[in-house]
Formats: sequence, structure tokens, C-alpha cells
Amino acid sequence: MGGWSRRKLLASLALAAAGQGAIVNGWQSRPIRRQLGREMPNKGKLALEDYEPKSMLHVSETPVPRARFPVIDFHTHLSWSARRRQVTEAHNNATPEEVLPIMDRKNLRMMVNLTGGYGKVLEQTINYWQKPHPERFMVFTEPWFEKITEPGYAQFQADQIVHAQALGARGLKLLKTLGLYLREQVTRGPLVKIDDPRFDLMWEAAGARRMPVAIHTSDPEAFFLPTDRFNERYEELSAHPDWSFYGKDYPSNLELQEARNRVMARHPRTQFVVLHVGDSENLPYVSELLDRYPNMHVETGARIGELGRQPRASRRFFDKYQDRILFGTDAVPGGNDTPQQIFGERLYEIYYRFLETEDEYFDYAPAPKPPQGRWRIYGIGLPEKILRKVYYENAERLLGLKR
Ligand SMILES: [Zn+2]
Repeated sequence: MGGWSRRKLLASLALAAAGQGAIVNGWQSRPIRRQLGREMPNKGKLALEDYEPKSMLHVSETPVPRARFPVIDFHTHLSWSARRRQVTEAHNNATPEEVLPIMDRKNLRMMVNLTGGYGKVLEQTINYWQKPHPERFMVFTEPWFEKITEPGYAQFQADQIVHAQALGARGLKLLKTLGLYLREQVTRGPLVKIDDPRFDLMWEAAGARRMPVAIHTSDPEAFFLPTDRFNERYEELSAHPDWSFYGKDYPSNLELQEARNRVMARHPRTQFVVLHVGDSENLPYVSELLDRYPNMHVETGARIGELGRQPRASRRFFDKYQDRILFGTDAVPGGNDTPQQIFGERLYEIYYRFLETEDEYFDYAPAPKPPQGRWRIYGIGLPEKILRKVYYENAERLLGLKR
């Protein structure tokens, strides 16, 4: 807006504020609108998707090309199971040769590939990533949910954990499938609850074998609300309508969290890593849970957008729970529809900047528009002692890597 029109607008606002009434308002409205129209091609109306405001803040930018200490990324998806016709196979999202140079440049010592699958897929995945590079890649197994309809599933699933460990799997991963997708007849019928007793032997088997359980429960709170103008993730939900869990027979976020809590309470020997900080919008709640369940840990994947927009609360959270927080990104090599998760140098630089610096108001994802919500983040400048724990010490302990 040019100087003249801005002055004129301010003058009219001043008149209106002075209580000049309807006549003045009627008089001023037309010329101003015409003026706006001339300077803004779409008459002052701009589609939300076209809006890309650039911050005018003059604040310091501290690039962090390498992490200060060697990092274990506890939450990645280097591969997953893909079903082609009747056959399920391992689908690799990258090759080790593509990933390793980036890891070296970023001081990324190890990546934990959580979605290793089960059975044959698990074996393929371990042989592809972990066996040739045991110091760099680690693979977790997943439950064989398709078998839930079969009698004796509970024991079968517990045996699978033992089998997976024999193959080389180092932990168990649960997608949000449990709680939000898995149904009694797999894809039909009522949703299976997270604390369904059929999984009790599985949780116990993982605990007995010292395999940590990485569990993703529920999703951002906004995903359980209508996708409307009040929804802070409106654009994200519009881009991914299938991520909405509003309505239908979905449990609430709290019901899902509470069901997971009952599992942690029932299996105190089993170490749970609650992915995505559990309920990252509600750190007081997550703190309460960490106080209540000594076998609970959290991981940061795809949630620095949440942590970084409440930097003071986050800093206190990292202080208090420094022994229970694991570094994770939820990185997936390739693709472009979830910029907050695309494996690459820029992604790690943002995480490192958030954890290591006190920079202000920067993007939480390598994307022209903040993909999870229209805000920016602030670094929490962790001291070295906490950085070491979050970057690798806590993960080492849980994964049994400590020599
Ligand atoms: Zn993930």
C-alpha cells in the first residue's frame, strides 16, 4: 500500500473512531475500495493457498549444518511393507548409498527404520539395511494385524516378537493403525482398542526381550475437529482429507491416549517410546503421564512445529524430562507432500537449529508455506548435557547400544 492511500485510510479510520457516524462511513467506503482495487490486483482478496507472507523481522540466523554431537534418529521410514497383488514385499524408499553420505554430513550416526514389517518383509529389510551397516541402521518389527481374526492370535503375535528378534529386529513399532484403522475383521467391524487384551502377550514379549515399543497413538488434536475456519490445521487437512478423524466412529484423542496409558500401566517392564511427543499440543498432560509412568519416553518426530511455537514450555519440558526424550524426525526419503518429513539435509538443519540455538521465528519445515499450520518456531538452545542425552544417550540406553 502506497503512502498516500495509507494516509487516507488512517484518516478515515480516525474519523470513524471519532464517532462521525453512518454518513462518514458511507462517504469513505467507496473511494477506499477503489483505491485498494487499483493497487491489489484481486481487490484485496487473496486465496489462503496463495498467501506466502515473508517475515520482516531482522533476527539472527544461526545455521547448524552439523549436529553438535552424533545423532540417533529414532523415528524414520527408510522402507515399509507394500502389497502388490497378493504378495507383501519390502519397499525401500532409498538405498543405503543415497542415505549414508547425507548422514555423514549431518553427523547422523544411526537411523532407526521403524517400519520393518514382519515375516518375510522384515527379513528382507534387515538384510538390506541393518546387516550390511549394523552401526548405521537399525530395524524394528511391526505386528501382524491381518492375523487378528485367527484363533490363538495373542500367542502367535508374542511368538512373532521372539522370531523378529532372532532375525535381528531391535524393537516393536505400532502405527496409529492401532486405535484408528484396525477393525475386528481387519478393515470391517468395530475398531480394535489399543488396550485390547489380545496384545498383552505381545507387549510382555517385547518387554522381556528388552525391545522398546515405539508407539504412535492418535494424531494432532485439530485432526479430531471439523475442517472449518476455526481449525488451525485447515490447510493441512484440506490437502489430506483422509487425515481427519472427526465424526464417524472414531474415538476422541483423549480416549486413544488413555487406552495407551492403560497399556503402559499394565506392562511396567516394557519400555514405551511414545512417538510425536504423544500429545504435543498439551505438554502439561504429557508431563503428567511421564510422572505417572516410569516406563514412558517420548520422541520428537514431526512435532518441532508444536514444540517450537511454545519455546518456553518446551525448554522447561526438555529440562525436566531430559532423560526421557529421544530425537526423531519421522523422516521419509523422497516424496513431497509432507515437507515436514522429507529426509534430507534441510530437515536435519531445522531440527538442530531448534534444539541448539535460540534463533527466533523460523520455519519448522523446508517448504514455502508452513505445512502443518501457519506459524513459525523459536529455538530452545539446549545446553550440551541435555543435547547429548536427546541426540543419542537416551536412545543408546533404550536400544542396548551402551558399551
Ligand atoms: Zn512415522
